[in-house]
Amino acid sequence: MTFALASRTRRMNPSAIRDILKVTERPGILSMAGGLPAPEAFPVEAIRRGCDRVLGTQGPAALQYATSEGLPGLREWVAQHLSRPGWQIDPSHVLITTGSQQGLDLLGKVLLDPGAQVLVEQPTYLGALQAFTPYEPDVMAWASDEDGPLPEALAGDPGPAVAYLIPNFQNPGGQCLGELRRMALAQSLRRGHTLLIEDDPYGALWYDTPPPAPLASRAPQQVVYLGSFSKVLSPGLRVGYMVMPSGEGDSARALRSKLLQAKQACDLHTPGLNQRLILDLLQGDFNLDAHLCAVRERYRIQRDVMAHALATCLPHGCRWRVPPGGMFFWVEAPEHVDTLARLPQAVEAGVAYVPGAPFFSSVDAARQNALRLSFVTLAPAQIHEAVARLAPCLV
Ligand code: PMP
Repeated sequence: MTFALASRTRRMNPSAIRDILKVTERPGILSMAGGLPAPEAFPVEAIRRGCDRVLGTQGPAALQYATSEGLPGLREWVAQHLSRPGWQIDPSHVLITTGSQQGLDLLGKVLLDPGAQVLVEQPTYLGALQAFTPYEPDVMAWASDEDGPLPEALAGDPGPAVAYLIPNFQNPGGQCLGELRRMALAQSLRRGHTLLIEDDPYGALWYDTPPPAPLASRAPQQVVYLGSFSKVLSPGLRVGYMVMPSGEGDSARALRSKLLQAKQACDLHTPGLNQRLILDLLQGDFNLDAHLCAVRERYRIQRDVMAHALATCLPHGCRWRVPPGGMFFWVEAPEHVDTLARLPQAVEAGVAYVPGAPFFSSVDAARQNALRLSFVTLAPAQIHEAVARLAPCLV
């Protein structure tokens, strides 16, 4: 028997990261590959107590089907938590999603026709490329300088349909977009017709100073903001959120209602037990600010240990910047080093990383000599050893 697959599946590729993660499960491998938060940072006890409370006080409701928009109290918390002067968020514009990854997929479904122009940073989040490509858009490199993506790229009539940006402690690059570039981008957005997807899972993970205000607060009618509890609480709970563009024009209203319809079709709603658990933690005696302070302290130490290890171990010709937040170092090895081809050698040496090429929108643009290293998954004592094992593979 034969059967046909939809033509869009031709654009779907296995995630390079998933394949690598399989390798890293082998005993003895020190992996800097996965984007996994440190397990020690999960508030397991607080979550256990929260589960007991939620099941004890609202058990049947937590186990029942729920609304696609999300738990009203959680939508209100998100709106209040993010609102600031110039960006007063209406809770009805908040959509709770099953991780921010689902937000990317819903946006692809609702915004992208085949051939639609989408601007992405180079490199950018691999999972966003995977979410968008099945909708067959024309994914283009967003021209940039050392301060980040250029506002001019948003000009033109009609200009790109969608632009995708991770302004805070980018995955994989680690950089944070400065105030002036945010102002300039917001101005271009307000003048044009491009919708910006602002993906911000790492904003709370700053180690030096908090990041500048989001783009969404500067151009709320042209930006969809994606947030997540994955990096601040737990990725396994799969709870994220989307702040949809404000405005009462036809297109903003249509976008909000189509996103909701897409969410319904996708999974009816994000697990109610998990939403209630998170709201219980946020409103109860669990102190999110104190938890985040502790997570930042832990990750700052790991970052500093990795910065020191890279500086002392990596061969001449490797370049990187110390990231001011987030979870990753982006390293560029000398031009002749193909990091994908060197991976088996690294695994043999007992270390794993993610090669840089899959983070680019096209094979031509890819930097074959780059690699991404996570500094949050290994204990400080192991980081130095991991980098020492890596060094000979980058010569
Ligand atoms: N966006 C970016 C930039 C990410 O790095 C990730 C997670 N690695 C996600 C979105 C998805 O996060 P989640 O679905 O867990 O919220």
